[in-house]
Amino acid sequence: MFNAYENDTSANEPKYIETTTPEGKVNFYSMTLEDLKAFLKGKGKEQFRAQQIFKWVYEQRVTDVEKMSNLSKSFRQEIPDILSFDLPPVLKHLKSIDGTQKFLFDVKGGNSVEAVLIPSDDRLTLCISSEVGCNMACKFCFTGKQKLKRRLTTEEIVGQFMQVHDRLEPGQRISNIVFMGMGEPLDNPEAVFKSIEVLHSPWGMMLSRRKITVSTSGLVPQIKLVADAKVRLAVSLNGSNDEIRSRVMPINKKYPLKQLLDACREYTRVTKDRITFEYVLLKGVTDQMEHAREVVQLLKGIPSKINIIPFNEHPGSGYERPSDEQIEKFHTELIKLGAHVLLRRTMGRDIYAACGQLTTVKDRPETMDISNSKIGGTNERHFGSGQPRL
Ligand code: SAH
Ligand code: SF4
Repeated sequence: MFNAYENDTSANEPKYIETTTPEGKVNFYSMTLEDLKAFLKGKGKEQFRAQQIFKWVYEQRVTDVEKMSNLSKSFRQEIPDILSFDLPPVLKHLKSIDGTQKFLFDVKGGNSVEAVLIPSDDRLTLCISSEVGCNMACKFCFTGKQKLKRRLTTEEIVGQFMQVHDRLEPGQRISNIVFMGMGEPLDNPEAVFKSIEVLHSPWGMMLSRRKITVSTSGLVPQIKLVADAKVRLAVSLNGSNDEIRSRVMPINKKYPLKQLLDACREYTRVTKDRITFEYVLLKGVTDQMEHAREVVQLLKGIPSKINIIPFNEHPGSGYERPSDEQIEKFHTELIKLGAHVLLRRTMGRDIYAACGQLTTVKDRPETMDISNSKIGGTNERHFGSGQPRL
């Protein structure tokens, strides 16, 4: 479907992870409605049964086949032999003092991934992972420290959403999804775009496409896929010129800024939507006033907003978070230059759920004391987060 693998940074990795269990069952959450129809047809079953099962699972959240009362008894007995409704088990569920929640999922083979639920006044955003580890090796990112172990399957991506959805309080609803957890979503386009189809379709979870955002480090050829899927695009800029960007994001050597920004212009032309550019502030590296000026110059003419993310610390990164004053100065400079900027409260730092703090490696403590820290601390009100408001 996609010819998106030309940038595959790990050509030897399997492209698809087997969705069939050892017993030969197929995982329901790996399928679109069309997939299930084809699957049932192959088993000699009526195709309209697919619609019925989808309604039970996504509309009613019923996965106990015995309760699917409009299916014949004999079919109900057969289903468990051919379909599984397993979701990635939740290994850990942590709550931050600021209301952010982090979920750790078991994705088999000793691997785990994280998703983060971020509440705000008018929305409930779920930040989900697309890969175990990441091959893009951005220097400031905790996930990037861990090389790609494998790409998640569709059911593991949809599964993160369903597990969190099933644990919401009455009346709550996930309003937005951002692919800003672990991994580079455009390095796993097959599963990412299929899961988007499941999550937005009327037969699936019915989330508006405009409430789904894919964030990329800049895999230029695949940006077109984000436009094709009619979902929103966020781009991790993180460097105001090629020299700095290549230093902190090696992918820039392959797709330098000119190519990246041309692809961004094309995205905005086709979708008429604006792009969010994420910009991580690294002390002494990306946080100077000349960088602010370069950023504004670079993005001139591209309908966009800039989401400033003060660097979130993690052990052994070698980078520092700028002072509150410097962050504020950078923010003010961008505004002065006419940019549309977001700088929000950092969420979930105390449970290592903030941007760039997600990983499965063992050298990270589970919680940290941020009580003395203003930005990201409990008493700070106006500062920015990586988890954007889009
Ligand atoms: N791989 C995708 C999405 C996941 S990373 C991407 O790179 O866009 C989500 C965001 O977290 C990116 O904008 C990235 O620049 C930012 N990020 C990574 N490490 C960070 C850190 N330590 N502090 C703050 N933001 C970080
Ligand atoms: Fe991967 Fe994104 Fe982290 Fe870069 S910032 S290493 S692309 S997860």
